[in-house]
Amino acid sequence: QENNATIPIVLDANEQTLIDSFDNASISTWSYYYTHGAHVAGQNKSMAQWTADRWAEYGFTSRLDEYYVYLNYPVSHSLQLNYANGSTYTPSLVEAVLEEDDVTSYPNRIPTFHGYSFSGNASAEYVYVGRGQQVDFKRLQALGVELEGKIALAKYGGPFRGLKVKNAQEHGMIGAIIFTDPIDDGNVTEAKGVAAYPNGPARNPTSVQRGSVQFLSIYPGDPTTPGYVSKEDSPRADTSLSVPSIPSLPISWLEAQPLLRALDGYGTVGRTVNRTGWVGAIPDVTYSTGPAPGATLSLSNVMEDKTTWIWDAIGIINGTNQDEVVIVGNHRDAWVVGGAADPNSGSAVLIELAKAFGKLLETGWKPTRTIVLCSWDAEEYGLVGSTEWVEEYIPWLTNAAVSYLNIDVAVSGPIPGIAASPDLHTISRSIMKKIIWPYRGTTNRTMYDVWEEEDGEVGVLGSGSDYTSFLHRGIGAIDMGAEGGPDDPVYHYHSNYDSYHWMSTFGDPGFITHKAIGQYLALLLYHLVNDASLPLEPANYGADMKTYLEELNETIASSNGTVDLSALSSAITTFEASAAQFNALRSFAISSNNAELLKVVNHKARDFSRGFTSQGGLPGREFFQNLIFAPGMDTGYAPATFPGITESVTAGNFTLAQEWVGKTARAILVAAAILKT
Ligand code: GLU
Ligand code: CA
Ligand code: ZN
Ligand code: ZN
Repeated sequence: QENNATIPIVLDANEQTLIDSFDNASISTWSYYYTHGAHVAGQNKSMAQWTADRWAEYGFTSRLDEYYVYLNYPVSHSLQLNYANGSTYTPSLVEAVLEEDDVTSYPNRIPTFHGYSFSGNASAEYVYVGRGQQVDFKRLQALGVELEGKIALAKYGGPFRGLKVKNAQEHGMIGAIIFTDPIDDGNVTEAKGVAAYPNGPARNPTSVQRGSVQFLSIYPGDPTTPGYVSKEDSPRADTSLSVPSIPSLPISWLEAQPLLRALDGYGTVGRTVNRTGWVGAIPDVTYSTGPAPGATLSLSNVMEDKTTWIWDAIGIINGTNQDEVVIVGNHRDAWVVGGAADPNSGSAVLIELAKAFGKLLETGWKPTRTIVLCSWDAEEYGLVGSTEWVEEYIPWLTNAAVSYLNIDVAVSGPIPGIAASPDLHTISRSIMKKIIWPYRGTTNRTMYDVWEEEDGEVGVLGSGSDYTSFLHRGIGAIDMGAEGGPDDPVYHYHSNYDSYHWMSTFGDPGFITHKAIGQYLALLLYHLVNDASLPLEPANYGADMKTYLEELNETIASSNGTVDLSALSSAITTFEASAAQFNALRSFAISSNNAELLKVVNHKARDFSRGFTSQGGLPGREFFQNLIFAPGMDTGYAPATFPGITESVTAGNFTLAQEWVGKTARAILVAAAILKT
């Protein structure tokens, strides 16, 4: 048994019950179930019901919450490259079907397409635009490359894909093709002599990354109900602000190669563009910008618009204190039949976690705080299931939510990683020390040991998964998962090759990493719902905000303007003083064993981060109410800290930046006032 390992890990009886309940064979069974059926959003109610039924079996009260949302589904698409000499090349736009992946029995395999993409045709010369960030377009403009009326050929990686399409559209381009590039596959590439999946761990050259092209950094959720819940009779808004109005398609590197090659020698040659990441690793192409006179793309994308039902499975164990709720969520929808990593590594873990808490309930244990498990639908389109749910339950969540724990891609490789709001840093690090993390053949290190060696930083939450709506209503959150490094098997994100076969052969043979991260999530949840003193550390915000302040100072210093940050700096000082008072009161409440006082302190820890939000949201994006961190406007995934100020500086609007210093400082003072005793 692994707990006889050489590391001295001391667990109490409840922790031991949870840890011992995790079984890799049963996680593999759950994974097998989830990876053998299409689960595109809104198209598999039975999987939602199955999830709710398992949770009910383990003692949770479960139900399905339904929302009526706008989605679109692929009907047909095509792409053709027309060379100047009149000849043509027609990419297949399909991934090679492999027997190993067990997808042959699913006749409706999901085509390669973009969720929320625009239906339309485009035919024009085309330009390679790098990763398609605003800086890339600025560089192209400086080089004198014509963009207006052309089609964008962009590389995956860096910013959220929908923002690539948004940027292309804003530069007058009429369509977008986004390709996978083996540059992102580290050392595990066919070019370096590694065999490709299914024969080896390198990328299958036909793999395509599907995914949503919603403008994630403007607002997530159903694009037709911004900020309010999607019911059957909800009024519907115009979607033009948050979804593209030009067509787009994803393609494999293999089929992108001829497109890039046709640009070779036209416009500016790749290395001369002189932008990091501009030149990729597709063999025999120079990543020239183009356009190549007379070389055109004809692209067609037909989608079916549908307003339809989606299903969130919800499982609840009521705590003694029902005004204190800890929520754990994972999405269930996937772009492909498998989705073994995304999201089913998380889905399988959540079933096993419910089973473990079921065992604990059988011993007579009852949580102090309420546990809510959520299996979200339609995350892939734009965090739709979680956002609509938060929009429906916001009054209750504002009053009662302690933290939101997110697990999406639980496992795509062996290296643990977490990102969290500062109040969760202390507990999230200390629980790592209680978990044995099997790592590259070793079984004598804790998750903390491995994490410290490989990563060692708790990330800042940006966006790209279901914690977003919680965080932006002032609820602290953590996101967790294990991923591969540059020498690990290539994870085929949003591809048919993210299959049970890939996972059990390359990603996590034996499901041992699934088990370890599941144990981690279980202990984290256990302490959040069980500890008499809520294990949140508001004071961590003080130290982290000082770091964000330093970074902001640097951003301002490298700009050509000035902003007075003294109000922000003094608000942080006030926050620190309040946090110190809070800590003193908490110590007294604990040492005097004063239950009433402990309740007061716990409620302050639960509530203070609501103060960081502003009703009106950030400039140009009302949805994003948290003034401490937000998804970067032009990154989507990667965060911006003090976003109201930082992004105004980046945009060169120093008047607006100054205004946001005031707003951000006031929000910090509200949080401080809630903590103050
Ligand atoms: N996680 C999904 C993705 O990265 C959805 C993100 C979103 O639309 O917010 O494609
Ligand atoms: Ca909505
Ligand atoms: Zn996911
Ligand atoms: Zn995904």
